[in-house]
Amino acid sequence: MMVFMKKTEFFQHITQVRRSVLNWYRKNRRDLPWRHTRDPYCVLVSEIMLQQTQVSRVLIKYQEFLTTFPSVQDLADAKPSEVIKVWAGLGYNRRALYLQKTAKAVVATYHGMFPSDLQQLKQLPGIGDYTARAILSFAFGKSLPMMDTNHRRFYQRVLFGMNSKKDAELLLAAEHVLPRKRAYDWNQALMDFGSLVCLTGEPRCEDCPLQRYCKAYPSVLKIKKTKKPHTKKSIPFRETDRYIRGRIIEQLRQVDVCSLLDLLQIFQEFNDVRVRRIIEDLAREELLVKRGNRIQLP
Ligand code: SF4
Repeated sequence: MMVFMKKTEFFQHITQVRRSVLNWYRKNRRDLPWRHTRDPYCVLVSEIMLQQTQVSRVLIKYQEFLTTFPSVQDLADAKPSEVIKVWAGLGYNRRALYLQKTAKAVVATYHGMFPSDLQQLKQLPGIGDYTARAILSFAFGKSLPMMDTNHRRFYQRVLFGMNSKKDAELLLAAEHVLPRKRAYDWNQALMDFGSLVCLTGEPRCEDCPLQRYCKAYPSVLKIKKTKKPHTKKSIPFRETDRYIRGRIIEQLRQVDVCSLLDLLQIFQEFNDVRVRRIIEDLAREELLVKRGNRIQLP
């Protein structure tokens, strides 16, 4: 913890930080559908969708997914191809399969009832420390901190300034800062605060209610001003494997079954060897199956 601070100074500091964040959240909270439920299955679905997809895109798919698979049992029983089809538009399709594997494990091991224990949740396939804590906090109302990119950036900047800390240290500090009776609001607040104010590259310190209590201010502004323009040439998205993978899966969503020759024809703008290799990768990851010359979703 912050050994350079006296105990009373530390508690005053965290009291001010808590008050400022929760006041800010009361006025600026986003009304998101997954904040209207305490069902661990719905919380899990939203968390997995939000992992690599923007909120605006998740908003479109979240309800559709839950309408198609209203319970963990429905998701466990579905054909993987159905899950991949409903996942359209979210990208990183492997998450759909992981989500279903989690559902199957919850049904098989816990009769469809999510455990409310951190270690048991982390043993489920596809659930890491962050997601397990999110389920415990947002569904079971447990008082514990979590560490996604927004939380991490907040604790790092506000408590430690520019002196970079490892996750274990941040989590330990977060345990002290967490307001025990408002843990749910606190964890949700830091998500909004990190997305709207304390942004990664361009923190909006000028509008920030924590400016007085933030250890990174004003040094963080120097980095913002001296940040060098990005010079490394990046590969256009349309030339990446990810793009081709997404398009192959999209093609299979549309037509159900395709021959290898058809796929090579459709993707003739790309090298045959590369497309074949990507198809093999997708088969290995169980995102498609090959039966003789037929290729389809699993
Ligand atoms: S002052 Fe700047 S760096 Fe500190 S919490 Fe606010 S936005 Fe983030």
